[in-house]
Amino acid sequence: MKRSELFLMNNGLYSHAIHAYYLKNTISAIRLSHQQVYTTDHGAMPMVPFTNIEKVITKQGRNYPKQSHEMIDRITERYLASVGAYVIVTDEGVAFVESENPPIDLRAYMAGIFNKYTCPACGIQFLTNDNIDIIKAWAQANQDKNYKEVKPIILKDHAGEECPQCKKGIVKHVNTIDIEKNMERINKLIAYVNAKNEEEDRKLNKKTSGGEVSGNIVMPVGTSFAKLIEKEKGNEK
Ligand SMILES: [Zn+2]
Repeated sequence: MKRSELFLMNNGLYSHAIHAYYLKNTISAIRLSHQQVYTTDHGAMPMVPFTNIEKVITKQGRNYPKQSHEMIDRITERYLASVGAYVIVTDEGVAFVESENPPIDLRAYMAGIFNKYTCPACGIQFLTNDNIDIIKAWAQANQDKNYKEVKPIILKDHAGEECPQCKKGIVKHVNTIDIEKNMERINKLIAYVNAKNEEEDRKLNKKTSGGEVSGNIVMPVGTSFAKLIEKEKGNEK
């Protein structure tokens, strides 16, 4: 493995894009399944609680303190946000969305979920046209704004209306989602990650002051793996 293929992770260790890719998948799986996971080294998964290997053998992996769902959500979502992946929570489950522009992309994605309706009487599923136009206009109006100035998206809610097909049933959302509640959580995650990145940058600058840092990429919020790999390829040329 060439040094040019490595990048510096936020935990201060060097890694390769493929390992970072597997890390992201592992952490996503932990978030989704809420499994009780411990790590036995201080390596690539510093967000996962540590336990000593001797303790694992002595206890045979039993009777470990139970990690709450809130704790698992916090540690996994902070990490995922640091690599530009966000968890969208709906009443039917969670979705993982990668975005370099979360305030626009994520609201638009969630609006797409909000726009799907179903009729319990005839079973039809449909998307509303008016809200698609609202989303387009909203995204257009907000695309040049910086993060804090993005206004919430105001959608028409058609739940409770008469079914356009059978005229008998009352339509309801296929999946219920609270867009602004999700954004509130995601904004906090982004603020946390930005503060952490600034702290790491300060440490890195201190360590390397006077010297030149070459070949290191500290992943900022929203860095996609495709871009990272592209950048690595660029470094090799
Ligand atoms: Zn119907």
